[in-house]
Amino acid sequence: MSCGANLSATRRTVNAGSRPWVRVTATFRCRACAFDSPFDGVELDSGINCAQCGTFQRINTSGWGRCLRFAHDVADLAGPNPEGHAPHHLLWIGDDNPYAELGLSRTSLEQEIPDDNRDGALPKFTVGPGQPVCTRCEVPLNVEVRNRRSLTSCPQCGVHTEYALDQGAHDAYGSLLAIVGAEHVIGRPRANMSTQAGAVAIGCPQCGAPLPPTRVGVAECGHCRAASYVPARARQREKSQLATPEAFFLTFNGPSAKRAELEQPTKPVADAKANASAIFSRGITALPGIELPKKRGGLDTKQLAFLLGSTAIALAIGGALSLGMANALDLGSIAEMFRPTLE
Ligand SMILES: [Zn+2]
Ligand SMILES: [Zn+2]
Ligand SMILES: [Zn+2]
Repeated sequence: MSCGANLSATRRTVNAGSRPWVRVTATFRCRACAFDSPFDGVELDSGINCAQCGTFQRINTSGWGRCLRFAHDVADLAGPNPEGHAPHHLLWIGDDNPYAELGLSRTSLEQEIPDDNRDGALPKFTVGPGQPVCTRCEVPLNVEVRNRRSLTSCPQCGVHTEYALDQGAHDAYGSLLAIVGAEHVIGRPRANMSTQAGAVAIGCPQCGAPLPPTRVGVAECGHCRAASYVPARARQREKSQLATPEAFFLTFNGPSAKRAELEQPTKPVADAKANASAIFSRGITALPGIELPKKRGGLDTKQLAFLLGSTAIALAIGGALSLGMANALDLGSIAEMFRPTLE
């Protein structure tokens, strides 16, 4: 869905020097109903109930690493700067950056997932650049990150919330630094979920009492008064309405794998075989620190045509010259022949 407005008109600028965050929505494709079912954060459970049909199913948790790597690439390389966040001081990657348009002509990018998911449903991310926002005031939050914990504070309503990145998420992708998402609030455990008559039922994580159906993200236990988080997939909703994912925010440490790949220097020709073939192909090696345009493979027909053409011209000129010289010699000898009669 799009209104066609220029994104720079709605873009908000956060304090200079603040770390880049991405806004993520995560889903998996249900094996039973084929609808996309939401995750509320980096959830590493190997079995999950589908939000749409309630079917309990296996999740291929090894897919989280790939998702997080993708989110890191976007966090590091998204526009409006063509080289993303913190560009290299010498190398220019702006022309090859696949995420440069993010924040300019589009707001998010959906990750492609491989078909081969025999080990369970694979998580999938939709990612775009974005600072955590206060859900009440809709203004960017100030975020302080320390030891895998993020403390957010709203400059308008002053609400503080603390989030923790658990060890499992850090193990899934080592460069993941911090998370801001309703599922990861410190001191607010997730409600227990179970399937009852095709629907997801929720229970208090502290005393086990069943929780009443809710349409919001937090439920209070009527028995022990403990607050718990109710994931999007366990909330009550209108009939025939699909559960939609709730966004969460991630930030990463250091340059992304995609940046490292784009900043790879052009490799000089390595072996003799490559050297020999380089005569008929474009083979220029870079001086250190200088980036060359991408090598085009195969035979360089223009270069070859020029070589053959100029050889033909050189032969023609050479031939004409030697013919001319021969003619001159012949004329000379003819004149020699007639000289006695002329005298
Ligand atoms: Zn389903
Ligand atoms: Zn606020
Ligand atoms: Zn309770």
